[in-house]
Amino acid sequence: MDMVLRPHHGMCFQFFEGKGYSADFTDHMGRVIRELTGDPNRPVTLTLGPDPVCEGCPNNRNGVCDTPEKVRRYDAAVLRLCGLRAGDSLPYQAFAALVEQRILEAGRRDEICGDCCWDAICRKKLEERSNG
Ligand code: SF4
Ligand code: SF4
Repeated sequence: MDMVLRPHHGMCFQFFEGKGYSADFTDHMGRVIRELTGDPNRPVTLTLGPDPVCEGCPNNRNGVCDTPEKVRRYDAAVLRLCGLRAGDSLPYQAFAALVEQRILEAGRRDEICGDCCWDAICRKKLEERSNG
């Protein structure tokens, strides 16, 4: 069965290190990531609405993100750079590879989400990766 996924979460997954808005949320996010990495051929359907990550997020107020403008901007940028559209469905590993090549390796991550509250963590992890 496919999983709906907000496109920008494809970036966040690459940097997740067990930190997050709350302990429950990080447990939840860890489970979602394990579900996908354990079954990389599972299709993800890209959505501009709430996804399984949002289900456990304290910023989700009755199904609506409380930073809607920000996440819409992040999602739109990820779709554009990956050459994808909302509603597209593809295997998780294919989506993760596009995010990796076209955004992370291409050095475009901070122009998308440099104003996220977790920016410093993701910036550091990306630098560590590129320094080998
Ligand atoms: S800075 Fe924020 S939006 Fe960007 S990858 Fe990190 S957690 Fe995700
Ligand atoms: S509700 Fe908003 S802040 Fe929370 S995971 Fe979803 S998009 Fe991110």
